[in-house]
Amino acid sequence: MSHTLPQLPFAYNALEPFMDEQTVKIHHDLHHGAYVTKLNAALEGKDDLLAMTIEELLKNISEVPESIKQAVINNGGGYANHTLFWKIMTPGGKSEPEGELMTKINELCGSFAEFKTAIENEGAARFGSGWVWLVVKSDGTLAHYSTPNQDSPIMNGDKPILGVDVWEHAYYLKYQNRRPEYLSNWWNLVNWDKVEELYQNAKNN
Ligand code: MN
Repeated sequence: MSHTLPQLPFAYNALEPFMDEQTVKIHHDLHHGAYVTKLNAALEGKDDLLAMTIEELLKNISEVPESIKQAVINNGGGYANHTLFWKIMTPGGKSEPEGELMTKINELCGSFAEFKTAIENEGAARFGSGWVWLVVKSDGTLAHYSTPNQDSPIMNGDKPILGVDVWEHAYYLKYQNRRPEYLSNWWNLVNWDKVEELYQNAKNN
């Protein structure tokens, strides 16, 4: 089975004014779409690898043949990262997580405000392109860190539950060089109900 581009769970203009319609359209249809196309091209004829989910493929990246490994890291990562990104955004979501996730974030960072600052600082500090993540580690604890390019936390054995894209294509049309402003506005778009659900699934599996 080849991998397919998931549909956006909202309209292209649904994230206005924090993320503009043109950026969302180009980002989903062209950038995310290209990762899917290139991943499928890399996996062509490799039925054993095509039978794996993208999560299985990234988790077992050491078993992928050298000739296509970097293509899978880049395009499989790009595919999985963006699939999560669209899933954990929504217009009009609640402003912060509740329950156990909030408790664990407070334990990790001191407060929710400090958590947001840490994510924003990691995003601002990422040189070039990459992502900032909140992940559930294999022991069930939370961690946050940045990765370069399209490197997926799944390759580290972690389960990402929140990720913010700091590639210029994610914000440049609206924010130009103002990445910190994009990051501080991005919190308005987070779908905390979904992140809480992903946390529970990741922790229990
Ligand atoms: Mn992107």
